[in-house]
Amino acid sequence: MRSLSIFGATGSIGESTFDLVMRQGGPAAFRTVALTGGRNVTRLAEMARALQAELAVTAHDDCLPALRAALLGSGVEVAAGAQAITEAADRPADWAMSAIVGAAGLAPGMRALRHGRTLALANKESLVTAGPLLMATARAHGATILPVDSEHSAVFQALIGEDIACVERVIITASGGPFRDWTLEQVRNCTVAQAMAHPNWSMGQRISIDSASMFNKALELIETREFFGFAPEQIETVVHPQSIIHAMVGFCDGAVMAHLGPPDMRHAIGFALNWPGRGEVPVARLDLAQIAKLSFQAPDEQRFPALRLAREVMAAGGLSGAAFNAAKEIALDRFIDGSIGFLDMAAVVEETLARISARNGLGNSPTALEEVLAMDHLARHTAGDAVRARLEKR
Ligand code: NAD
Ligand code: MG
Repeated sequence: MRSLSIFGATGSIGESTFDLVMRQGGPAAFRTVALTGGRNVTRLAEMARALQAELAVTAHDDCLPALRAALLGSGVEVAAGAQAITEAADRPADWAMSAIVGAAGLAPGMRALRHGRTLALANKESLVTAGPLLMATARAHGATILPVDSEHSAVFQALIGEDIACVERVIITASGGPFRDWTLEQVRNCTVAQAMAHPNWSMGQRISIDSASMFNKALELIETREFFGFAPEQIETVVHPQSIIHAMVGFCDGAVMAHLGPPDMRHAIGFALNWPGRGEVPVARLDLAQIAKLSFQAPDEQRFPALRLAREVMAAGGLSGAAFNAAKEIALDRFIDGSIGFLDMAAVVEETLARISARNGLGNSPTALEEVLAMDHLARHTAGDAVRARLEKR
């Protein structure tokens, strides 16, 4: 019987993972070691009971009594806090899903890799903030990372059986998000609710807003570089409003392999769950005659400066990804709480990178988690200053 853990079980990716695990037999087919979540302890407890998990962990200490009460008599162990989540990754499991949102997903993912497991990686921030470290840790401990971002799962699948030296380019598609056809002025004044309303994908709040600003695509370009090791100039992005093609790989003979599927993350999660084989996944089947048309357009870096910033991060390397992500997380928090406008997010990130680069430099590629966390801390602080400076100017 395979054993598994799900980090971020109560989120959008976590729920889809749970759904697939239940459909593939649930507790009769898998031994569930640990499930982690946030404040939604009722749902976490339900999942833990359904999968007969050994351990359920909430990220918040103040939620522990409620989690304990919800699991009374179930035999499921409970714990709380960031440290407890990382320790949950020390418990042996054959397969772990990394689906916590943000840089908080890095430490437990790293820990799981040290134990030589298969890590299904939805948490793109891990690769953006600590790509070289994560990949080196996986290599050193014989662990496998399977990308779960749809674009990266698509590239991974297009590369099966191929010689990576024959790859000329990778094309990551972008839906363009809800503001694809909005003017710069309209985008400037958008609300949080408008930014969250993704036209094709149903996702967590943070990644939905990141899709509207194209910070999500920016993270994904960096993620592509870090996971597959392609040179920045080999990595392209194209706007593809239908979100049917998730990525394409172009080879030295001019052939291009595309991965198609409906915009449903259970594709990528199901692939990772069943790898190296394939299993039944209950996603809608494509009706191409009904879809009728797949269209493409060049991305607009003026309205979506995140893409330009991603290029700068890839060129700078070192710890710039950690700074970029942390600044983006702060800017996103402040957009969600109404302090800054939508376009201010990119300005805050750009200013944070410039300030850190001028004062401290963006450093060398990380060799230890502490270096990443120190840059993350510095960038959050610097981004906070950049936000305050903008608010004072108003
Ligand atoms: P979500 O917000 O729906 O869920 C996040 C999960 O992480 C929840 O279980 C939450 O309780 C937990 N969490 C949040 N903050 C935490 C913290 N500080 N410590 C511990 N746990 C915490 O997010 P999501 O949309 O499922 O995305 C999860 C990850 O997968 C993100 O990195 C995202 O970029 C990536 N991803 C998501 C999608 C998607 O379709 N949703 C697609 C590709 C990649
Ligand atoms: Mg994606």
